[in-house]
Amino acid sequence: MTAMPTAGTDLPDIPEKTVTCPRCQGPSLYAARNRFRPFCGERCKLGDLGQWASEAFRVAAPADTDSENIQ
Ligand SMILES: [Zn+2]
Repeated sequence: MTAMPTAGTDLPDIPEKTVTCPRCQGPSLYAARNRFRPFCGERCKLGDLGQWASEAFRVAAPADTDSENIQ
């Protein structure tokens, strides 16, 4: 196996990055110890998946075309 070209395996304290949680727009810790990254937590990660599912369901539903005729 070829090792990945990692420059310096013994890096000192890497400042953990804070990103914006794509779910709640709040601060999210983007670090190895945040296993829900880029989400801030489990709830946001699961919630995003749930939203994906419901959106896919909605798009797949053909009965929604009537609502485009609203005035
Ligand atoms: Zn969040």
